[in-house]
Amino acid sequence: MSTINPGVLYVVATPIGHQGDLSPRAKEVLEQVDLVLAEDTRHTGRLLKHLGIQCHLRSLHEHNERAITAGLIEQLQKGAAIALVSDAGTPLISDPGFFLVRECHGYGLSVSPVPGACAAIAALSVSGLPTDHFTFEGFLPAKSAARLAALEVLSAQKSTLVFYESSHRILSCLADMCQIFGESRHATLCRELTKRYETVRSDTLSDLCEWVSRDADQQRGEFVIVVAGNKTSEQADHQELDKLLRVLMVDVSLKTAAGMASRYFGIAKNEAYQRALSLKNQTD
Ligand code: SAM
Repeated sequence: MSTINPGVLYVVATPIGHQGDLSPRAKEVLEQVDLVLAEDTRHTGRLLKHLGIQCHLRSLHEHNERAITAGLIEQLQKGAAIALVSDAGTPLISDPGFFLVRECHGYGLSVSPVPGACAAIAALSVSGLPTDHFTFEGFLPAKSAARLAALEVLSAQKSTLVFYESSHRILSCLADMCQIFGESRHATLCRELTKRYETVRSDTLSDLCEWVSRDADQQRGEFVIVVAGNKTSEQADHQELDKLLRVLMVDVSLKTAAGMASRYFGIAKNEAYQRALSLKNQTD
């Protein structure tokens, strides 16, 4: 039975290390499509050979994506089923494919995901850091001055931060994070996930930096750095809320003060009310 439909672009995730992480459906889609678009045809060719799949492969990378998209749209309009893969993980996540997918939407063509591995999500899931809100930042700038400036912009952010990093820059990147986020900020370093030398280590940025600098083996491979959000700014916001509530409660009722503070800080009325109540109880 056919898993695929004509005229659809399938965005197919491939493993980030362990070959067993390719889903059975991904395999079926790759077997059945008319064309597989791959970032590096040699790399994907090896994966397909390992799976025993013979198919028509064409390269799509950041340098030719714009030039070849019009032709691919035409093929899809004529009913071809096409799969897009990247070297590892989920296409478009710090990988090519955005232009093609956006054009497909523009031409009213169907785009269908075949989900699977993604290094950022795999790292987040084992990081031990809050996952209710997170910001995926991908790769930081390669040059230290630009990297420091980018980190500065992120330093007050409360949500967990997720970065990709290569072995060449892992040490300098951790050192810059220590400088901007502070040595005591918590982070989880995820190296070579799902591979033989997988390492997941959670510690303060300064201890991680020291640990990586002491062991050359820990500087090899592929990395995701998951960094805790800025708790200090959350505490600072609470202090600001308390300050405003104390001033307001001198002249207006607790309920009115809570309403005004909730509008000012853009927080839930009940949150401001509960805070006002506990401040009142402290002074009574
Ligand atoms: N599209 C991919 C995904 O879904 O994860 C990411 C592609 S990006 C070009 C490659 C980067 O992802 C690497 O430099 C590294 O930061 C991260 N990465 C990929 N595989 C990894 C792995 N097995 N362990 C840790 N990080 C990995």
